[in-house]
Amino acid sequence: MSLLVVGSIALDSVQTPFGSTADALGGSAVFFAMSGALLHPVQVVGVVGDDYPMDRLERMAKRGVDLAGVSRAQGESFRWKGKYSYDLQNRETLETRLGVFADFAPRIPPQFRDARYVFLGNIDPELQLSVLDQVDEPTLVACDTMNYWIQGKRDVLMELLRRVDVLLVNDAEARQLSGDWNIFRAARWILQHGPRFVVVKQGEYGAVLVSGDGIFYVPAFPLEQVFDPTGAGDAFAGGFMGHLAATDDTTSASLRRAMVYGSAMGSFAVEQFSVLRFDELTPDEVRLRVHAFADLVRFDLLPVGEGA
Ligand code: AMP
Repeated sequence: MSLLVVGSIALDSVQTPFGSTADALGGSAVFFAMSGALLHPVQVVGVVGDDYPMDRLERMAKRGVDLAGVSRAQGESFRWKGKYSYDLQNRETLETRLGVFADFAPRIPPQFRDARYVFLGNIDPELQLSVLDQVDEPTLVACDTMNYWIQGKRDVLMELLRRVDVLLVNDAEARQLSGDWNIFRAARWILQHGPRFVVVKQGEYGAVLVSGDGIFYVPAFPLEQVFDPTGAGDAFAGGFMGHLAATDDTTSASLRRAMVYGSAMGSFAVEQFSVLRFDELTPDEVRLRVHAFADLVRFDLLPVGEGA
């Protein structure tokens, strides 16, 4: 059950109250792949420049990431610089240098075209559509987007929505896309425009899955130390899609479980800078954290008559 991701492969320079990184591995495809590969092998399509530290990228292969779809172009790699506020609630983008990413035209290698599970990371919706034109018949397609595309390429984005099964966005993006402040109404609006499932991520407040079957909520894991929130959303998507691909099950029960895997993997991402936490993470640690989620939300109802 192959799992494919198309997205950015970046060099991130991030400042948080706890320290900073320079030119660390980043980008949506990298966070997604390092997270998802703990649950199921991941195929990556993306582009890097000739200055990218290939040895560091290739280390991902040892973790179950197939890099056959990563092309190397002449020029500078995509670089992103961001700074977080003291409470990690706000992030300022200090610099975005597109480099070779500006001319990125995803080409899906023939051996990836029969991918059954596809994640379209946050890139130009025209490119996301071009990926869909190159894959045969996926079981489930999920996509992400951002304010820039919602504002600048709305029509193409709406066309894309008609062709995907799941939209994963944060609360601000759901509001901007729908024009509705209430995230549940916003999610309903999105459901009316194509996807069968909407996942709205709310940072430290968790994430909500909305579909025709109802609403399911997963909390964020109660971490006492958060180092770097960068990539949490993409790691969430990796856990979510990784679980679906590993089980090849897209029933409601499986999607609910996938939300928990998503939140678990998002919580690992923020524990260290870049994708460092995933370097040593074991399937046992993932299992333990998923079990901890079950404890977090478990409670016993009083028998009828003994409570309200
Ligand atoms: P997130 O924290 O989920 O917003 O993801 C952050 C990651 O997205 C970082 O690793 C960045 O390299 C990457 N990123 C930032 N801006 C863009 C952009 N315009 N297009 C694609 N990827 C981006």
